[in-house]
Amino acid sequence: MELTQNAIKVLEKRYLAKDENGSVIETVDEMFRRVARTIAKADKLYDENASVEETEEKFYNLMTSLRFIPNSPTLMNAGRPLGQLSACFVLPVEDSMEGIFDSIKNAALIHKSGGGTGFSFSRLRPKGSTVKTTGGVASGPVSFMKVFNAATEAVKQGGTRRGANMAILRVDHPDIMEFIKCKEDNKEINNFNISVALTEKFMEAAIKGEDYELIDPNTKTVKGKLNAKEVFDLIVKMAWTNGEPGIIFLDRMNEKNPTPNLGEIESTNPCGEQPLLPYESCNLGSINLAKMVKKVGEKYEIDYELLEKTIFDAVHFLDNVIDVNVYPLPEIERMTKKTRKIGLGVMGFADMLILLGIPYNSEEAVDLADNLMKFINEKSKEASEYLARERGPFPEFYNSIYKEGPPLRNATTTTIAPTGTISIIAGVSSGIEPLFAVAFWRNVLDNEKLVEVHYLFEKVMRERGLYSKELMDKIAEHGTIQEIEEIPLDIKRIFVTAHDISPVYHIRMQAAFQKWTDNAVSKTVNFKKDATIEDVKTVYLLAYKLGCKGVTIYRDGSREGQVINVGLKE
Ligand code: ADP
Repeated sequence: MELTQNAIKVLEKRYLAKDENGSVIETVDEMFRRVARTIAKADKLYDENASVEETEEKFYNLMTSLRFIPNSPTLMNAGRPLGQLSACFVLPVEDSMEGIFDSIKNAALIHKSGGGTGFSFSRLRPKGSTVKTTGGVASGPVSFMKVFNAATEAVKQGGTRRGANMAILRVDHPDIMEFIKCKEDNKEINNFNISVALTEKFMEAAIKGEDYELIDPNTKTVKGKLNAKEVFDLIVKMAWTNGEPGIIFLDRMNEKNPTPNLGEIESTNPCGEQPLLPYESCNLGSINLAKMVKKVGEKYEIDYELLEKTIFDAVHFLDNVIDVNVYPLPEIERMTKKTRKIGLGVMGFADMLILLGIPYNSEEAVDLADNLMKFINEKSKEASEYLARERGPFPEFYNSIYKEGPPLRNATTTTIAPTGTISIIAGVSSGIEPLFAVAFWRNVLDNEKLVEVHYLFEKVMRERGLYSKELMDKIAEHGTIQEIEEIPLDIKRIFVTAHDISPVYHIRMQAAFQKWTDNAVSKTVNFKKDATIEDVKTVYLLAYKLGCKGVTIYRDGSREGQVINVGLKE
């Protein structure tokens, strides 16, 4: 297998099985074998005579060729005692003491197994309302979020992953102003991402500059009014200040809800790419696009044949995960098996563009994203249809928005995940993000730093006889090559980094992928340090106009103690 040093380091630290003393007891190859064998077993549930060995081999090759990698919990836990394989969960938070603390307990169980949880706090009565049984006053969503946060801090996932949470509050909740500002000091509620759920009604009022009503979720009565434009401007200003809150377009998510009869979507998972019903879980997996090209003459082209085969194998894999998964709660198992949602996505998109010689910030790249994701979405539906013929449609199919069409095995098939760690394992750019840096300093030992150069950049520079250690050191100081004279223009065009790309192109790329993605798209829109609040607002409104399901932004240097001003993440 062609693994980078970094990949091996990450795998050894977090993924490979260990004994009680913490010593690694399997090789990377054995890990993929363990995963392939465990996931293949599900075939037997549908066909006694299925050749599980053949499927195991197929899945093993799918992963060891680095064409596809499932989300981290699947790699860590398949065939191991925990057996919990999903990255994403949404839990309800009921407006009662029992409900709130049940939810905290359930989240702790999920965190322990490496999953992330999303919650809507919109059902909680506002701060200051009365509590009937005690005659006291309720403390409101934000104060309970702090309790969830403290519980997450204490669990710390037994050393595998720190807990990750999403908190959502509807914009018409009476405590919305407190929520928008609750992470002003971002040491607070640090185990949460927060997003405001914007409604269509709110967006219309914001665009017209009108007031909108705040509703008490408990009594369903109007509790006051706010000016929508002022609230929108405050959200934008806070996001400009330190990246939070994000926004999600809630009504849009519900328009695409495949099973409205089962309930309403209130929240997404921690990174925003997976809207789910309360108690649903979803397992993700991503195709490595850097592997989906072939050389024709001197140039690279997308290898659609290989891509199609990879999609079919990946959908088979992810559908099997649902059956062999060990669920943290019976209710989650029940809900998940009703809809059988899977989230197939991509990583290495920026690397693919470089191989194809297309700048990320170009019309050509946006068109390519549109066509490519359309293909992936359509083929994933064909693969799901194919499975449905053998295994039956998802149980809620005849109750779903798809009921008039051909039976499908999965209520959703596509999601674009951030691929924070699995892209390190595959050694490629994460998700659909552009490169963060062409070369950067990585801390290796306490006081030692090494320059790490993007593999495709190094290759081109060596081929052209332009590579030198001095030049790479110089580039690492900047991260970007746009201002470096020695670099030829054609190389500058292709090797663009997140900050070389205008926020508008970031959003247009997100929208191109969203158009063909059932669930949502994880994307960070990067702004330069000197971007204005108005710049951020323009992007938020553009995201709304282009049909995105949410927006996350980050302005360089805006978070105190920002450790990564280069692409180092682990
Ligand atoms: P990976 O690359 O590890 O598979 P991603 O970065 O693609 O994961 O994240 C996908 C989802 O996995 C997130 O939206 C979240 O639901 C979950 N997740 C990511 N990191 C964590 C974490 N540290 N703890 C719990 N869940 C996480």
